[in-house]
Amino acid sequence: MNAEKKIKNKSGRITWGQALRLHLRAIKDIRRICPHIFTIYGLCAAVKAVTPYVMIWFSAQIIDELASPRRPEVLWPLVAWTVAAAAVLGLLSSALAEKQTACDRSFWQHEQKLYTEKMFSMDFVDADRQATHDLLSQILQNANWAGWGIYSIPSWFGQAMEAAFGIVSALLLSVSLFTLPVPASAGNLTLLNHPLFILLLLALMVFITVLSGQCASKAVSCLEKIGDSVKLGNRLFGFLFDMGTDRSRTADIRMYGQKKVIGSYWDENDVFAASGPMSRITKGPMGFYSGLSTGVSAVFTGFVYVFTCLKAWAGAFGVGSVTQYVGAVTALSSNVTKLFKTAGNIRTNAAYLQTTYTFMDIPNSMYQGSLTTEKRSDRNYEVEFQDVSFRYPGTDTWALRHVSMKFNVGSRLAVVGENGSGKTTFIKLLCRLYDPDEGHILLNGIDIRKYSYRDYIGLFSVVFQDFQLLSQPLGTNVAGSEDYDRERVIKALTDAGFGERLASLPDGLDTLLYREFGDGGINVSGGEAQKIAIARALYKDAPFIILDEPTAALDPVAEAEIYAQFNQIAGDKTAVYISHRLSSCRFCDEILVFDHGRIVEQGSHDALVSQEGGKYRELWHAQAQYYE
Ligand code: ADP
Repeated sequence: MNAEKKIKNKSGRITWGQALRLHLRAIKDIRRICPHIFTIYGLCAAVKAVTPYVMIWFSAQIIDELASPRRPEVLWPLVAWTVAAAAVLGLLSSALAEKQTACDRSFWQHEQKLYTEKMFSMDFVDADRQATHDLLSQILQNANWAGWGIYSIPSWFGQAMEAAFGIVSALLLSVSLFTLPVPASAGNLTLLNHPLFILLLLALMVFITVLSGQCASKAVSCLEKIGDSVKLGNRLFGFLFDMGTDRSRTADIRMYGQKKVIGSYWDENDVFAASGPMSRITKGPMGFYSGLSTGVSAVFTGFVYVFTCLKAWAGAFGVGSVTQYVGAVTALSSNVTKLFKTAGNIRTNAAYLQTTYTFMDIPNSMYQGSLTTEKRSDRNYEVEFQDVSFRYPGTDTWALRHVSMKFNVGSRLAVVGENGSGKTTFIKLLCRLYDPDEGHILLNGIDIRKYSYRDYIGLFSVVFQDFQLLSQPLGTNVAGSEDYDRERVIKALTDAGFGERLASLPDGLDTLLYREFGDGGINVSGGEAQKIAIARALYKDAPFIILDEPTAALDPVAEAEIYAQFNQIAGDKTAVYISHRLSSCRFCDEILVFDHGRIVEQGSHDALVSQEGGKYRELWHAQAQYYE
């Protein structure tokens, strides 16, 4: 892939600098699509981080007061303040949490939209490429698996902020643990005033924090080992779910027992099963390292308890302060661990972000010309293929080879040939969905690349074999817009043979097609859908109208009838008909016969059918049994 960036270091790992740059870029993108998300996460984190310390501080004051002077006039206001602080912080925290959830939901949607919009805007050649779809599905699977990629960044930001606020609050609350001295009357315990104790405690904190952090990240890395199986598991789960909801599969599933085949494949590959690899990892090494991480922290809490209790015993401060100091110092350690964990996540996530941006950076490299295609009232256009050859990206075989031909507007052109002979590819090149690898395509003598792409593509209406309608009102489908000329839409539908059915619809053009967006939608048959697709092509009123075997599901006689009927509807437009059934196109002025990517014959039906040893003649006689 041309957008693939080489940003890994020699050992194949992404460096810290690159990881940070990727995250900064992601943050910029997130702020663009969801401007307030970081503010909300930050506020949430501040309230969440400060709340326990406020409570610890009030509790310490109350215990101290209870332990010695026990003055009701001090105690009652203290209790009242504690309750008020708890209520205000609780309220604030719930309100912000709700806002954060709403913001998260909208962020998820916006993130998906980001990928969809990228897909919509990229060159057709890239949008049609399997590698692009693989990349996108990898991004979605990474996000589904554990929020890797863009999705988790706001929540890691929240965690980091919570840890940072927590560290500052804990430092503020614990500083007096070290500064308040043990009085001289405590005898040997005055040793606790020695700065070495502070250093010892700090060293222990750093050691335990690093150890605990490493155990925690080792637990996470256990998951990474089964990353591929988890991705496959998610993919299977998604596929199985889609199978159940995809109406077009309903009949096949029942007819061919597909549920059994897929079901057993699913059973053998269920990474999430009770005895599956995920469960083995979480119950085994992952559980062990997570437990070790917590256990190691508990050892540190033990040391803090001993140090704080000894100082309180020696009279450096009251018993109430013991709660404050133990709470603050242990929280300090756990917040530092949290910060380490977030850093670890950022490092791991860099590889996933790289995948995301490989996709987002796929460039639009198709040459965009600036010439306008004049809207000629006489519709006098001439198209010429000059020695055109084309290979689909990533393939070695020529789908089209040395194709040269010329045709004028207003004529009826048929493109015939066996399946796989290059007919659709010829049309895709004509519409500039792809550019030729060799040769040129000219419109009125000018290379089509020199025209503005939007203008050029506006010249064509194509009904592809696999046309798609939207679950939108009928009129919107035909016009491709919610704002449309109702009379013209009705005419297009009537011309396409949908008039009778339209008259039977109580909501007429406002009838919703399909049911994805509402219960009131109607289902149309394949033949009806095809008529709507043809009406859509007519409504566009482009000078070229192309039917690429949209009738493939019909029998040869019905197809021939539709094509002949369409011949009248097309009026003064240039109509191009594609079919592997020769009878459908015999009325055309000009017939191109494709074989293995080449135009092997060109001419009228009568001329071609009388050509001894010709391909057309051979195919005609082979198919004749169906029509005679
Ligand atoms: P026809 O329309 O005559 O049935 P096509 O133009 O669809 O034939 O296909 C011509 C050749 O190009 C075939 O060999 C087909 O397998 C190949 N082909 C078509 N589409 C693609 C694609 N997207 N990627 C790779 N090869 C393709």
